[in-house]
Amino acid sequence: MCKSTKFSSKIDSFDYFLSKEPFNIAKCDSCGFLFTNPRPFQENASKYYESEEYLSHNQNNQGLLSQLYKLVRNYNVKQKSRLIQKYAGEKTILDIGCGTGEFLNELKNRDFQVQGIEVNSSARNFARNFHKLEVYRDLNTANFNPDSFGVITMWHVLEHVYHLHETINEIKRILKDNGTLIVALPNPESYDANLYGKFWAGYDLPRHIYHFSSSNVKNLFNAHGFKVINIKPMYFDAYYVSLLSEKYIAGHMNYFKAFYRASLSNFKAMGGSRNYSSLIYILKPQKT
Ligand SMILES: [Zn+2]
Repeated sequence: MCKSTKFSSKIDSFDYFLSKEPFNIAKCDSCGFLFTNPRPFQENASKYYESEEYLSHNQNNQGLLSQLYKLVRNYNVKQKSRLIQKYAGEKTILDIGCGTGEFLNELKNRDFQVQGIEVNSSARNFARNFHKLEVYRDLNTANFNPDSFGVITMWHVLEHVYHLHETINEIKRILKDNGTLIVALPNPESYDANLYGKFWAGYDLPRHIYHFSSSNVKNLFNAHGFKVINIKPMYFDAYYVSLLSEKYIAGHMNYFKAFYRASLSNFKAMGGSRNYSSLIYILKPQKT
């Protein structure tokens, strides 16, 4: 991130969700950037996603948490669409990490020209076959023309991306000069992150290989010719993340505790810190 080579171990934790393997989060001594260390080789990374429960890719899970996830997702789809309509100049959108395509489908119904990127083949095929969307495996395969999109979105995706700088350069190339980039990320400086520590579900090791603070995001994107013009909260993420974190601590769901702590996280952020559990960054290419 800042080209420094000095870092120290910050948190010893585990992949609580799937493999139960131990992983470490390191912190750059110079800029404070948190990263999973070591991270899985990219060619081995897919095995950490091979779960029937991996919710964003699964349509048929009937469990309570899964039902809750779908409820929140449907709400989020509406909220995200409203945000896009506020910032979209031209109605051409690329959603990177589009999953099963619910968000893109909503925008298609609002007269957007929509395209998606999704690396997971079952999610990609669902988006193609069920929602009839144009979805590519990755940016290289898609090979878009320069200045193709008015809006590019990454909802909880950048923290999974191996080739960070190349990806942002490619986004810059295919986004219009007056376009908008929208990036949502878990916030390791949130109250719930500090409270849950190594159990915080927002770390999601080793699937999340970076853990961005807002100053990391600003520095990273400034270096690539973007400016953060606004930061918005994602209120529901506190609840979902707290539920999972409570499960990682106790081995079972604790709905009451999670609800209380998530609400506290939102209230504290509202009260001044603005450090919500997850944040949406609105970015614009800088005029050169
Ligand atoms: Zn650094």
